Amino acid sequence: MYKSDTICAVATGMGRSAIGIVRISGKDAVDIADELFRGRKRLREMDSFRAAFGYIYDGDVKLDEVIALVMRGPHTYTTEDTVELDCHGGPLVMKRILELLIKNGVRPAEPGEFTKRAFLGGRIDMTGAEAVMDVISAENDMALRSSVEQLSGSLRKCITEMRDRIIRETAFIEAAIDDPENYSLNGYEEKLSEIINDIDHEILKLIETGDEGRIIKEGVRTAIVGRPNVGKSSVMNMLTGTDRAIVTSVEGTTRDTLEEYINLNGITLKLIDTAGIRNTDDIVEKIGVERALESMNEADLIMLVLDSSEPLNENDKELIRNISKRKYLVLINKSDMEQKLDMDELSQLDSSKFISISAKYNEGLDEIRDAVRKMFFAAEIDFNNQIYITNLRHKNALISASESLGRVKESIAAGLGEDFYTIDMMAAYESLGEIIGETLEDDLADRIFSEFCMGK
Ligand code: GDP
Repeated sequence: MYKSDTICAVATGMGRSAIGIVRISGKDAVDIADELFRGRKRLREMDSFRAAFGYIYDGDVKLDEVIALVMRGPHTYTTEDTVELDCHGGPLVMKRILELLIKNGVRPAEPGEFTKRAFLGGRIDMTGAEAVMDVISAENDMALRSSVEQLSGSLRKCITEMRDRIIRETAFIEAAIDDPENYSLNGYEEKLSEIINDIDHEILKLIETGDEGRIIKEGVRTAIVGRPNVGKSSVMNMLTGTDRAIVTSVEGTTRDTLEEYINLNGITLKLIDTAGIRNTDDIVEKIGVERALESMNEADLIMLVLDSSEPLNENDKELIRNISKRKYLVLINKSDMEQKLDMDELSQLDSSKFISISAKYNEGLDEIRDAVRKMFFAAEIDFNNQIYITNLRHKNALISASESLGRVKESIAAGLGEDFYTIDMMAAYESLGEIIGETLEDDLADRIFSEFCMGK
């Protein structure tokens, strides 16, 4: 069970900064902080949301000059009494203050434990908790807006409404079975069918936003493919040029899976298999193409690079055959050179997807960006009216809810009887509940919170 001991953590980064915040939450937060704090006011006598200037003492040793902010539950982030100490943002001073708190009976918080308490205290649901983390890790404006929207409860509201409708019908069926004299199930199946269809339709619509949601959150998974020497690395360099793009490299699980993100004026591209591009020189031509075909499988967008200064060869043709059914752009590179590429040979591709570029001279970047925007963000994204599923956990729970509703429909069609309907209706209810955290197993909740950062 949930035990409200008092926890502490550094809520800001552990590097050097102007200010570092040490956060303390739990029933003894104010009392313990008060013991260590010396200022003109006693913290335990202060009203909620008041700050006091003073010093933190370890016995007679003055550790730091701080501002202590006292917040009393339940109107705090964790719903518990909370004290935040604004101290100087040095790793050593923050460490000393933490050690002092621990010596005085405060436990170091686990990652995400403050947010977990907000969840257990009923202040936020699981979608809210996850949105907190998404706001912190948002890498582009669209991801940020979408997670702030989710933080405000849009997804929870939508899920709660669907669950309410399901439980209402389940309750009606149960009542009718128990008390047939007062509740009649005559002709009810038709009405139930309609309601189930309606809810399922809504769920499917949410599931459909998943792809766009993922793209908003993670970026467009992009594979840059082409035979050796067409200019793939040059295209990468053009896209990631430091004056116009932010590139972050995240170490993957194996040494050669480096994830690279490019931010093209608000559109994030997540490049796939850039190691494959960077190493093509060492790879036999054929393997290069096979590898390209492989990396294309997981791509949202394929950028096929062709060399306009040479005729197509077999490798080009093989790649062309493989992209025609996918979302692609054809970057016809080396526009600064004499053209030897026969455009008639590209007739099986959509010419509106052709972009003439010169990676060497940085020409064509705007055209690439506009084309990507058109392909993936056709409609202006409106976060006020539209909920995007950006979380795989949510998507999977929606899928299983939809499957349960599918079984309800089958049972109705087969005339199996009310008992059968309610079992699957409750299964859908539970799956939807997982999203907001109402029916989530404890260990799963723990796992979600353990992925949070320290101090949040
Ligand atoms: P990759 O093997 O597909 O990654 O190709 P690279 O990016 O390494 O480019 C192969 C060669 O083509 C290099 O010598 C580049 O300088 C050259 N190159 C790339 N893009 C252009 C371009 O737009 N114009 C010209 N003239 N040369 C280019």
